[in-house]
Amino acid sequence: MASRDEVLAALAKVSGPDGRTPLPQSDSISGLTIREDSKVFLAILIDPAKAKAMEPMRASAEAAIKAIPGVTGAVVTLTAESARSAAGGGAQQPAHGHAHGRAAGRGTPIPGVKRIVAVASGKGGVGKSTVSCNLAVALAQLGWKVGVLDADVYGPSMPKLFGLTQKPGLGPDGQKLVPLEAYGVKVMSIGFMIDEGAPVIWRGPMVMSALNQLLREVLWGELDVLIVDMPPGTGDTQLTMAQNVPLTGAVIVSTPQDLALIDARRGVAMFKQVQIPLLGVVENMSTFICPNCGTRSDIFGHGGARREAEKLGAPFLGELPLDMAVRERSDDGRPVVATLSGSPQAAAYLDIAHRVMESLEAGATARPAPRIRFA
Ligand code: ADP
Repeated sequence: MASRDEVLAALAKVSGPDGRTPLPQSDSISGLTIREDSKVFLAILIDPAKAKAMEPMRASAEAAIKAIPGVTGAVVTLTAESARSAAGGGAQQPAHGHAHGRAAGRGTPIPGVKRIVAVASGKGGVGKSTVSCNLAVALAQLGWKVGVLDADVYGPSMPKLFGLTQKPGLGPDGQKLVPLEAYGVKVMSIGFMIDEGAPVIWRGPMVMSALNQLLREVLWGELDVLIVDMPPGTGDTQLTMAQNVPLTGAVIVSTPQDLALIDARRGVAMFKQVQIPLLGVVENMSTFICPNCGTRSDIFGHGGARREAEKLGAPFLGELPLDMAVRERSDDGRPVVATLSGSPQAAAYLDIAHRVMESLEAGATARPAPRIRFA
């Protein structure tokens, strides 16, 4: 496996954003991750206005890393640095001396957005998007200002889950998009811009630039938390996103099946690799309660996620039943937390929201990521 020193030595031959200073000394490297399979992920902070001009630098850095013997691949991304936050005008306060203090998200914070939380899963179909939606509504009900960013660009589901069909308009500056709003939550999704069912073919760099736009070219206003619904899985796209979005923490959704847990473990490992604090694990589709007779059946087994979370040292955030009302209402754009208030289903999401809120209030606040500086 290539070492960090080898990667930095190779990057010394590439000039940084100013066209002169070698990349390792340029104060622009915001993330360097070497995965166990010897694939290297690098994020370089740039002024977004110069993104086109920076492409040759990005390509040279990628080529330089790929040329290192033993490296199996390289993904180099450009991440945004707005003039405002570059000048120190970000809205976030640095957090001191708390449990999550060591780990900072990557990329420049979004002015006005206090915390950004990724909801992720090791694989698709485990209910990650349903959890993102209901968790957001629950946090709003608990009094927070909440936004949801649908980063699942391959299968955006927030328009359906929130029952939103309009297209977002432009704000007063004629540049940034105004997020749509439902159930007290501001929502932005690539799904608002493309037709449902239309196939979208994304190449890696397009995904990142779409995500950066959804994150930074949107008038989020003041938010206590922005929930990011990640694409399922733990591949290159997910790692690159985790590296480029200034995440405060991550929530992993898993079903109780063993296979899903193996996948969930990969999710935990990925966030560890990029030093994002794990807020906890949610077990979804945990138990089935028969709507006719009330009998409880553990269709996929039960308790696996709790045991697994304990083994990984991650907090267990709670379990959600496999429930017909959740499925039906999700498909209709009527999240249970909002439309079945007082029900046990809504209570289960609210419990999880409480724990997430507590954990975030206890420490994790988004802040400018320390640039990695190599003397
Ligand atoms: P993912 O984002 O992980 O791909 P989704 O949130 O899209 O998963 O959920 C997949 C399907 O499972 C959807 O039809 C959704 O309505 C359903 N679903 C999710 N959670 C539950 C639950 N707790 N009970 C019943 N159905 C659920």
